Amino acid sequence: MKAYKQFIDGALREPHSHGVIEVENPFTQKIAATVPNGDAEDGKEALQAAAAAQPAWAARSAVERAGILKTMAATIREHRVELAKILMEEQAKIAPLAQVEIDVTAEYFDYYAGWARIYEGEIVQSDRPTENILLFRKPIGVSVGICPWNFPFFVMARKVAPALLTGNTVVIKPSSLAPNTIMAFAELLAKRDLPKGIVNFVTGAGATLGEYLVRSPVPGIVSLTGSVEAGQKVIAGTAENITKTSLELGGKAPAIVCADADLDLAVKAIVASRVIFSGQVCNCAERVYVDKKVEDQFIAKVRAAMKAVTYGDPATAPDMSSQIDRNQQKKIAEMVERASKDGAEILVGGQIPETKSGYFFEPTVLGGCRQDMEIIRQEVFGPVLPVVSFTNGLEEAIALANDCDYGLTSSIFTTNLGNAMLAMNRLKFGETYINREHFEAMQGFHAGWRKSGVGGADGKHGLFEYLQTHVVYVQW
Ligand code: NAD
Repeated sequence: MKAYKQFIDGALREPHSHGVIEVENPFTQKIAATVPNGDAEDGKEALQAAAAAQPAWAARSAVERAGILKTMAATIREHRVELAKILMEEQAKIAPLAQVEIDVTAEYFDYYAGWARIYEGEIVQSDRPTENILLFRKPIGVSVGICPWNFPFFVMARKVAPALLTGNTVVIKPSSLAPNTIMAFAELLAKRDLPKGIVNFVTGAGATLGEYLVRSPVPGIVSLTGSVEAGQKVIAGTAENITKTSLELGGKAPAIVCADADLDLAVKAIVASRVIFSGQVCNCAERVYVDKKVEDQFIAKVRAAMKAVTYGDPATAPDMSSQIDRNQQKKIAEMVERASKDGAEILVGGQIPETKSGYFFEPTVLGGCRQDMEIIRQEVFGPVLPVVSFTNGLEEAIALANDCDYGLTSSIFTTNLGNAMLAMNRLKFGETYINREHFEAMQGFHAGWRKSGVGGADGKHGLFEYLQTHVVYVQW
């Protein structure tokens, strides 16, 4: 069986503790590989390597650093098929989506490489006649990136590419549920002639290795993508050293369907966004608000569409596959059961299906939901679509959508520009999609409001997360 090693200071290393984490293929329920169960000692070495490498890395020109990002992109492209297979096997991601994640990750490195000649400082007017005020953008130092299991490879790039380009060095801790693709990438990087220590990959539990990295005084920035609970622990840990903290956390995205919506388009987009990666996506439609006037037509169409969703072996490219593990499957089943007891009507699915292997949950539609229900307020992270109807116009729907602890993404389906404008102006979310599925672009800015996070990733603003401003007053 494949046993990955830690990647520290440019070399593959055995961990300090000899325990391993077994990574299960959720579809076959067999162990796909092991990774080191790293501890504080591994974390310490990774941080030391990153800190030692950082001054020389920052002293290179941005264009030179971009060259390394391009090497990373090329490495991914050369191994795109094998990396997609590893990704599919460690998390039951359907084969085409696994391939998209690998290919977009390569593009992401190239995208940020393109910023080398673009990001800039400023010169501002002084009150004094012989003075210039210069604003430099400087790297923060060492960056710690903690990744989730749902888009592990892509999120790794989100934490590595902008940090490296701007002269920071990086320590990455993958999720223990899906670390294999990242560690396979580390093996490929070990064969390349990269500057040592600029990027380090260490595996281990969040409660031990993760806590150590977060509480250390070495990093200048810690960036986590994960659950609200992990975000709360990380922010408590970084409080110790007042370390800059960027959090991309959970979501409970509303999709508003107006009476004038193109219902076929709305259903197609909402269902696609609800079943992609078996519903385990932070930005996807988690609750629907439909105008009562079109509720029956919408429900009929959404029922048919969810019934038609296929699931099975990820290699055969069904619409979706297994949930990540038994815990997630159980959590979804219990939430649906409680919703049903609380008055929701199960219109499609609602069960754990009988399959030979895998942690499947049926594509599910819940009708007659209310705003106060747990299923409308808490993240499900599964292929479950609860529907609430509204009777008092779009203002009511927007108020219901905004009434939420999370504030990551949102969407509206309408053919009326006035409705679209009202939603654009009133929805309180980091992102709003109008007449399309929920999925962000790398040149945008992915950042949650409220408990969905602080700071954000992608585009110009994502780059600036990894820079600090140094103001110099020059009298000459
Ligand atoms: P999780 O919170 O269980 O784990 C995320 C990472 O945090 C893992 O690497 C874990 O080991 C680490 N961790 C846990 N406790 C820690 C601690 N005390 N200190 C340091 N690190 C710790 O999340 P998950 O289950 O991997 O991912 C699913 C969640 O992530 C969902 O809520 C989803 O919405 C969210 N998510 C958000 C985005 C976004 O961009 N906003 C993207 C993907 C996933």
